[in-house]
Order: sequence, then structure tokens, then C-alpha cells
Amino acid sequence: MTEIIEPLRGMNDVLPDQARWWRRVDSVARDVFARYGYAEIQVPLLERTQLFKRAIGEYTDIVEKEMFSFEDRDGDSLTLRPEATASICRAAISNGLVHNQRHRLFTMGPMFRGERPQKGRYRQFHQIDAEAIGYEGPDVDAELILMSARLWRELGISRVRLELNSLGTPESRAVYRDALKAYFTASAALLDTDSLRRLDGNPLRILDSKNPALAGLIANAPLLGDYLDEGSRTHFEELKARLAAAGVAFVLNPRLVRGLDYYSRTVFEWTTDALGSQNAICSGGRYDGLVSQLGGTPTPAIGWALGIERIILLMQELGLGAAAESPHVYCVLAGAKAAQAGLALAERLRDAMPWLKVEADLGSGSMKSQFKRADKSGAAFALIIGDDELAKGVAAVKALRGEGGQEQCPFGDLAARLAQLLEHNRAVDGAIGSRQDRGP
Ligand code: ATP
Ligand code: MG
Repeated sequence: MTEIIEPLRGMNDVLPDQARWWRRVDSVARDVFARYGYAEIQVPLLERTQLFKRAIGEYTDIVEKEMFSFEDRDGDSLTLRPEATASICRAAISNGLVHNQRHRLFTMGPMFRGERPQKGRYRQFHQIDAEAIGYEGPDVDAELILMSARLWRELGISRVRLELNSLGTPESRAVYRDALKAYFTASAALLDTDSLRRLDGNPLRILDSKNPALAGLIANAPLLGDYLDEGSRTHFEELKARLAAAGVAFVLNPRLVRGLDYYSRTVFEWTTDALGSQNAICSGGRYDGLVSQLGGTPTPAIGWALGIERIILLMQELGLGAAAESPHVYCVLAGAKAAQAGLALAERLRDAMPWLKVEADLGSGSMKSQFKRADKSGAAFALIIGDDELAKGVAAVKALRGEGGQEQCPFGDLAARLAQLLEHNRAVDGAIGSRQDRGP
């Protein structure tokens, strides 16, 4: 027998039953973005490796050990994007969007990181990103966070908490970096190999370590907040005031440094206690230096990214719904003539009512097996067409849910009659508060 080809570790297929959750997150996010004036941008999955090295930073987990990089036929090093911010900044520069301009953007799609796969952590995962380029803040910082909070509300998500910190400017951070380096150097014997390497390159990265053995040492390290410059301090205070005025709760986390080097000033992370150790659902921050670091006109910017898989896991954990994709009508076609006429009739119904979901039975089979499939499809009504009906130019309309009942309807009146019956169903469902066909 021919060997089957195994899927790659950490790369998932999304089957139809899961896909409806994706569609729900996608459509709610698009709707929220539209309401805040964020426009869609799409960037390639593949970029020069140098882009991510320069943007994300040499001493980060992503660049040190998580990138899917390879050489193309010309010997250029390319990398499957591990995140979208670097690519969006590159695109903004490449397309002349940074000079004296402001853009509120969003994008969605797959990201790639060679991590150890586990629940909520994959090698191909998907993000929704929002980026505001050319805005100094702190108003836009607040707006982006309010927008994420609205997204949770619209999706019905609870059990999340917002953590906030300020990283200051590169200058104030340099002073802090020296203090941190002195502190960790004094305890160098306790550090693991990753941290020792970062001690010289970027000691802030040590604070981001997930090694539990270092937790005590990290807890006692100097605090970045004590080194903030005046401008960053004011920026941070104004952001906090705006969030408080809009009723968004947050906790200050002076240890929040985020895993990427390009952040400055505002950083934040939404976490949940419902997903175990993969607790970060959305994170972001200001990256005022990134555009110039990539060769563009100095341009302030800020953004966030959420992990779609983790959002869906959280929605499922919270018992939320996602609309099932049942057809409205299932066509049961008895006999060869009806099978032929049935397909044409289904087309006519789709022409007449573009919103109507019609599933025609294919491949024929006994009435019994066709009705089984009709039931399984979740359709509200079956249209039954056999030789008798064809001869009379009618279809039998049979309710598959609720009280049942069956009636005959001339082909010409079918569209109007189905619309009437479905509207009646909707009214009854609404009256008894049924949410079967709808999300939260
Ligand atoms: P973590 O600390 O869990 O590794 P991160 O700080 O690396 O997260 P970011 O780079 O900020 O994550 O990416 C933004 C969001 O993308 C995260 O909050 C998370 O929801 C999601 N995410 C990141 N890495 C993965 C992954 N490997 N699989 C699934 N989702 C991920
Ligand atoms: Mg990570």
C-alpha cells in the first residue's frame, strides 16, 4: 500500500466544524475595524530574513530560534513571516506611506514560528493585527486598546485582563539597561545559557525569560519604571487617564517588556486565566523607532496582534457559540427526471433569493437515505420532488423542525412561500430566544 503523507508538526487543518469559529472572529473583527476607520492591508508571507533580524532584534526568541528561514535558488535568505508588524512597516516604506502621512491599518493571516507545538501554540498560527502608523499618541494608544476591548465584548469574551507598562525611550532604556546589566552580572552564576548570551547583547530580554529557576532573580531586578524619562512618563499618565475615563480596567505590570526589541513607551498584553500556560491572547505596543530602523522617514507607530487560535479556544472554553452553517432548504429528489429538474429548480431558487442556502441531494439514493441526509444537514425544510410532483409542476414542502407539516406548492410560488415560512420560523425562534442559528 502507498504510504500516507503525514502533516507537519504544529501545522493544522481547519475543518468545516471549526471554520465557522474562524469566520465569526474574522467577521466581527472586520466589523469593529470598519467602525474605527482601520483599512485592510495585505503583505506577503515571505520576506528577506534581514527584515525580521533588523526589526525584531537578534536577541529575541523569534530570531534566535523560531524562524522558518531558507535560501532561495539565488542564495538569498528568506523567512516565512513570524509576525506582521515588520512587514507592514516595510510595506509602508516601500509604498511611500510614511512621509507626512497617517494610516490606520489592519491585516489578518498566518504567521510561522518553529516552537514546540502544544495547545494554543503552533508553528503555523494566525493573527489579526492592527497598526496605526504616523500617530504619536497617547490618544491612539488608548484608541487601539479600546478597540481591542470592544472586540472582546462583541465576541462575548470575558475572563481577560489588560496589563500595561511603559518601556520609555531608547535613551532612558539605555540607562536602565546598564543598571540591569550590573544587577544580573552580579548574579551571573545563577543565569542559564540563554540569559548569559543576552546579558551582553540585550539584558532586558532576560526579564522575558520563561525559565522558572530565574523567577526570583527577575522579581528583584531594578524596575524600568524608575528610569522613565519625563516625556514617556507624561505619555503613560495620559494613556492611563484616557483608559480610566473610557472605563477600561488595567493592571500595571512593571515586568512586561514584550518579546520583541522594537517597542518603545507603551506596551500592553491581554491575558486570560482560562487557557493554561498559553495565556497571552493579544499583545502590542508602540514602536516609534522601527520605521527609521528599517530605513524610512522617522515615523511614530503603534499596534497590536491577537492570536486567532487562542481567541477561538477561549470562546469555546467560555461556552460561546458560533453560527452553524445549515442550509435553509434540502432538496430530496426521487427518480432520474426529478434529479435533473431538481438541480435546475435549486438554481432558480438561488436566483430568486440570493440569501437562501439550498442544498440539493446529489448522487440520488432511496428516499429513506435522502431524508436521513436532509435531517443531518440541519435544514429547516425539505423540498420533495418526484415524478408525480414534476407532472403537476409542484414541490412538496416538508418542515424538518418543530411541528412538522407538509404542503404542496407550485414551482412558480416556491420562492415566495419559502421566504414566508422561514420568516415565520425566525419569528418563533426569536420569541423563544433560540440562538441555535446565531452566535453570541
Ligand atoms: P507567547 O508569550 O505566548 O509566546 P508572544 O509574546 O510570543 O506569545 P506575540 O509575538 O506578541 O506573542 O504575538 C501576539 C499573539 O499571537 C500572542 O498574544 C498569541 O495570542 C499569539 N501567538 C504567538 N505565538 C503563537 C503561537 N506559536 N501559536 C499560537 N498563537 C501564538
Ligand atoms: Mg512567543
